[in-house]
Amino acid sequence: MTTIFDKIVNREIPADIIFEDDDIIAFNDINPQAPVHILIVPKKRIKTLNDISIEDEQLIGRMFIVAKFLANKTNISESGYRTIFNCNDDGGQTVNHIHLHLLGGRPLNWPPG
Ligand code: 5GP
Repeated sequence: MTTIFDKIVNREIPADIIFEDDDIIAFNDINPQAPVHILIVPKKRIKTLNDISIEDEQLIGRMFIVAKFLANKTNISESGYRTIFNCNDDGGQTVNHIHLHLLGGRPLNWPPG
């Protein structure tokens, strides 16, 4: 099933895209929860973290390399940041296409609500 993120990848709807390569796209969240709130999204359609397999090992690892790169680019590397995959209802997942949230630019509470 296609999601809003496929439409962003295919340029069917606009987004503030800040990184893209053959496998991954990253853009600002439309409803930011922190001064920096970026979504790092694989172009491959994977519904939830439950659906990743060993063949996605490199892709998932690369999403964190992109997160590190974008944390540096947005000047939150030293102040700190959080990376999150939400999964299914209790995890708060609302878009069924896996994505890594990169949040920073303010102190983040722990534990999350
Ligand atoms: P989830 O709740 O699934 O972990 O995260 C989905 C995220 O996608 C939310 O933070 C939400 O604000 C963001 N989002 C939903 N629709 C759009 C959209 O059309 N454009 C952008 N840039 N972000 C979106």
